[in-house]
Amino acid sequence: AAAKQTGANAIHPGYGFLSENPDFVEACNKANIIFVGPSASAMRSMGLKDAAKALMETAGVPVVPGYHGENQDASFLAQQAQSIGYPVLIKARAGGGGKGMRKVDAAKSFAQNLEAAQREGKASFGDATVLIEKYIEQPRHIEVQVFGDSHGNTVHLFERDCSLQRRHQKVIEEAPAPGVTAEEREKIGALCVKATLDIEYEGVGTFEFLYQDGEFFFIEMNTRIQVEHPVTEMITGIDLVREQLLVAAGLPLRYEQSDIKITGHAIECRINAEHPRTFMPAPGKVKQFHSPGGIGVRVDSHLYSGYTVPPNYDAMIGKLIVHGDTRHSARARMRQALSETVVEGINTNLPLHQDLIDNPEFAAGGISIHFLDRYLKETAAASE
Ligand code: ADP
Repeated sequence: AAAKQTGANAIHPGYGFLSENPDFVEACNKANIIFVGPSASAMRSMGLKDAAKALMETAGVPVVPGYHGENQDASFLAQQAQSIGYPVLIKARAGGGGKGMRKVDAAKSFAQNLEAAQREGKASFGDATVLIEKYIEQPRHIEVQVFGDSHGNTVHLFERDCSLQRRHQKVIEEAPAPGVTAEEREKIGALCVKATLDIEYEGVGTFEFLYQDGEFFFIEMNTRIQVEHPVTEMITGIDLVREQLLVAAGLPLRYEQSDIKITGHAIECRINAEHPRTFMPAPGKVKQFHSPGGIGVRVDSHLYSGYTVPPNYDAMIGKLIVHGDTRHSARARMRQALSETVVEGINTNLPLHQDLIDNPEFAAGGISIHFLDRYLKETAAASE
């Protein structure tokens, strides 16, 4: 209705709740409004974790070992878990946001967890089908950015490391991923390009992997622009949103793979209106806002002094992104930029970012997805 009323001929869905909704894509098609993103069918084919894994396997992309077939018989699934080897993870195939996911440490608790995952899948997503995966103990979260057009051209724009997470919510992201070699990068990038072509995917997309001991394991694809896309823009110099609009208008991609290069290093801190330790949401009136600046500093935010953060939405109120010629200098810029940022009147997670940017383990690079939870536990214990 908003598009019709304003006479818009296209909708960019951002990264919100309509961005991965194939029914919305179809509604746009019917109304003759361009949806800036992939087709409903490409979205659907990657929307279910089992189907996505099967497609990736066919394309030669390494996936987390496990069972993602049709047979949902409980004793058959228990056998599968046994042969995968404990610990395993049971996932609702339609799940998202960590819902419908159960870690199982031993055979004796399998049946009970299976029921719970099926129940959650059914209740939250209307689908009780599950898949079973090997539980990867100390992975990093590394994801590959791809971009396809409607003329059969597809490129990748390297990877991002988003391992710094709390309850599967990303907190700090960076590109490129520390320690990933040029050969690894080229290999996984090329596999993702091939998979993108196989599913005739148009627009930006992200292949998410768990990465451990030099090995990538596909977990899922996001069929939209992501919150953390600026770090990729900063190291490649390519405005992804602009290119999205051009591709949605039917133009061919303006870049070939060999045109896309990595320059320096970029880090993004998600600034949230929340308590920096308890993560309790902190809506309210921003009395003072001062944004940092200078070379290599980018602030994506709608904040201003006097703005009221509403309680109804996500707690993210801004993204602070920096670029430096090395990871070390990017961290130095982030430290400086964080110290210049002023948000008064509400709680924010700025103090947490300031601690993390100077944390020796984070500074060394290559932390696992469990780092932040462990860090929060250790520092809470130390301050008691
Ligand atoms: P969702 O769609 O609910 O976000 P994902 O499949 O993307 O589910 O997984 C969410 C998170 O769970 C991952 O980022 C990772 O932290 C963890 N995870 C997923 N699969 C595994 C696995 N096989 N082993 C260990 N951790 C996993």
